[in-house]
Amino acid sequence: MTYDLLIIGGGASGLAAAVTAKSLGIGKIAVLERLPRVGKKILATGNGRCNLSHTPITAENFRGSVDVAPILAEFGDVKAFFETLGLYIRTDDAGRMYPHTMAATSVLDAFRLRMREDGVEEICDAQVDSLHFTKGLWHVKTTGVDYAAPYVIFAAGGFAAPKLGTDGSAWDLLKKLDIPIVSPNPNLCPVLSDARMLRQLKGLRVKGEITLYDQDDAVRTEIGEVQFTDKALSGICVFNLSGFIDTRRFEDYFLLFDPLPELGFDIESILYTLQGTRYGMNCEEMLSGLLPKPLVRLILKNADISPDYPCSELSGQEIRRLSISSRSLTFPVKGLAGFEQAQSTRGGVPGRALDAHLQVRSHPGLYVTGEAADVHADCGGYHLHWCWASGAAAASDIARKMG
Ligand SMILES: Cc1cc2nc3c(=O)[nH]c(=O)nc-3n(C[C@H](O)[C@H](O)[C@H](O)COP(=O)(O)OP(=O)(O)OC[C@H]3O[C@@H](n4cnc5c(N)ncnc54)[C@H](O)[C@@H]3O)c2cc1C
Repeated sequence: MTYDLLIIGGGASGLAAAVTAKSLGIGKIAVLERLPRVGKKILATGNGRCNLSHTPITAENFRGSVDVAPILAEFGDVKAFFETLGLYIRTDDAGRMYPHTMAATSVLDAFRLRMREDGVEEICDAQVDSLHFTKGLWHVKTTGVDYAAPYVIFAAGGFAAPKLGTDGSAWDLLKKLDIPIVSPNPNLCPVLSDARMLRQLKGLRVKGEITLYDQDDAVRTEIGEVQFTDKALSGICVFNLSGFIDTRRFEDYFLLFDPLPELGFDIESILYTLQGTRYGMNCEEMLSGLLPKPLVRLILKNADISPDYPCSELSGQEIRRLSISSRSLTFPVKGLAGFEQAQSTRGGVPGRALDAHLQVRSHPGLYVTGEAADVHADCGGYHLHWCWASGAAAASDIARKMG
């Protein structure tokens, strides 16, 4: 079966490419999706609400080797893009953009309704397992069916969240074409640490300031809620730090957590005040109005002070030790939670292999969009914005070439 454009993967960037291509007059288009339905991951985004972009958004929000600036510039206003699909957007105080309905289904519906209206074919249960170019056409094979087109957009995502269709196996199609790939690593995932320390903190959610250190250097600081599980630190702020850890040398990294950043340098005087107001109590009781008990116990242990020790007997030196230990809980990095728990992939087709419109330089007619390109970012809507913009960029270039 011959098409004008075949899109491998019915995720965010594939669907954005499909509606853009059609709006620019490309004739026969099919989206090939291995799962029974397109857009399964879109439905899981933003806790089912789909944080679809962010304002402001600039090239500085993205990491990886692809030059995203011209693609973001060409895409322009995300609100305008969605309004042409009949979808309206609202923005929260932090700049995160959502569909006005606050339901991810509205985003997927907007794409599917437009594709239905425009006659874009959704071919599901169609795992692509071969991709090659002969006699002027790209040949895309799924189990039992061969498709061909002069243009193919590879929008098959990365390795993150394999249950949602992306186990990374599609990258083998690119490897077989000798297209270079930056090795994949999880991004936006929990960070594994010392299980013995974490066992006592399991289930806690504590707001504070957390800094990732690479040996003696502070790499990045985040403020927010840290969630403790039996093996890992989690939460958006930890997710954002996970992308900065070099997975070849976990032993060089640690996380420093300060659960009391808002108290500034006053903590020592607060401890003296507490010693006065809770004079007859032990040290664990003295601190129980400041921090959750499991954290208090860890802080006391790190300061080498028994929880049962009468607080009235704390010396000036012990108060100082306690003030330092309560502001600097250190968690060694033992690894990253796997792709099962990650929201995106670091790695993919590098910028040097792609032209300014995401066409593979060595393979004219083949484009790489979304998470399959070497682009990653923080939580907050950046990944999806990249998916819409990159899908639209590839489709626009193909439309220009088809004249
Ligand atoms: C739980 C979760 C929450 C998230 N929340 C947000 C958020 O709120 N905001 C945000 O910006 N980002 C979020 N992200 C990240 C964002 O969803 C992804 O970066 C984005 O969806 C990637 O889009 P994509 O088009 O590159 O690939 P995907 O959306 O992953 O789609 C790829 C598609 O290709 C299909 N496919 C794979 N291999 C083949 C093959 N061989 N043949 C045919 N089809 C194939 C897959 O089944 C899949 O449907 C979240 C991610 C997760 C996992």
